[in-house]
Amino acid sequence: MNNPLRSTTLRFGLVGWPLSHSLSPFIHTSALEAAGLAGEYQLFPVYPLPMGMDDLKLILSRMRGGELHGLNVTIPYKQSVMPMLDRLTGVAESIGAVNLIYMEQDRLTGDNSDAPAFLLDMQRKLGFFERTRTALILGAGGAARAAVYALLQNGWNIYVASRRVDAARQILTDLIQYRRVGSQRAAALPLEPAAIGNLAACDLVVNATPSGMYPDIHGSPWPDGIAFPPKAAFYDMVYNPPVTSMIQAVRAAGMVGTNGLGMLVEQAALSFERWTSRPAPRQVMWEAAMKSISVGIRSNLWNSD
Ligand code: NAP
Repeated sequence: MNNPLRSTTLRFGLVGWPLSHSLSPFIHTSALEAAGLAGEYQLFPVYPLPMGMDDLKLILSRMRGGELHGLNVTIPYKQSVMPMLDRLTGVAESIGAVNLIYMEQDRLTGDNSDAPAFLLDMQRKLGFFERTRTALILGAGGAARAAVYALLQNGWNIYVASRRVDAARQILTDLIQYRRVGSQRAAALPLEPAAIGNLAACDLVVNATPSGMYPDIHGSPWPDGIAFPPKAAFYDMVYNPPVTSMIQAVRAAGMVGTNGLGMLVEQAALSFERWTSRPAPRQVMWEAAMKSISVGIRSNLWNSD
């Protein structure tokens, strides 16, 4: 088994496309420095499949060989990397997406830290700790899957609303069939005013679409012309810009809304802990994220991972 801490230099990285201006190298470099570990976090931009297949295989073989000690995975590889690994954790298998890769007992292992990172940050920011609440998730991609998994596991009732309602239905079919996810109330809806406008009883709305993310900063996933559920708090997984158009509108209505920067930092912290077996210096990582996002704002540089 690899023991990365025996290496002089720890080598971590992020695989995806596009990766320009990712915040992850800043967050991880600051964590390595704060922990007194020599290391680096590299970006591995891999052109989408099928063109990027050889590059992706090469990066994974560098992990198997012990030359790399940990990888994060982002769009478009969170699903397509799964068959190339030796083992998936139960969470990654249930969600159907991997964003964290490590070696365990000589097996290349895929995990998903988006789900616990979302839950922890959402609870910390919005204070939802009690069970049996109702959430509306907007979107039906990988991030929505992670949020639905985390909330179902924690006893929430769920609506998933998506432009392609079939994709929302598929999430519920896939997740509810796993025995470890309970059978709370869950329903799929089209992301349209007629369907969303009736959900007055929602406690939480989660944006798990890229709508509102730079450069589409005026976009919002919330359909025009309908009121927000009056008791709901809003969690926007988008963090660039830090105050999205949807969160601006939520706050203008006197309601509470937060962005997904804390989720990004928490998934990085969980990755760091998995790769190094040391506690992550979360405060330092958070400050690095805040600093690099301010530099991004000033320089007009953004990224989506
Ligand atoms: P994804 O797999 O590509 O899924 C995107 C989903 O959003 C799809 O259901 C898509 O619907 C829908 N969508 C796209 N544009 C839309 C629009 N303008 N209006 C309504 N729905 C729209 O992406 P993902 O990995 O789930 O990521 C989603 C967002 O979450 C991204 O912005 C990503 O940066 C963010 N995210 C943040 C964190 C964090 O740590 N904060 C972690 C993961 C992801 P169609 O199928 O109809 O296109």
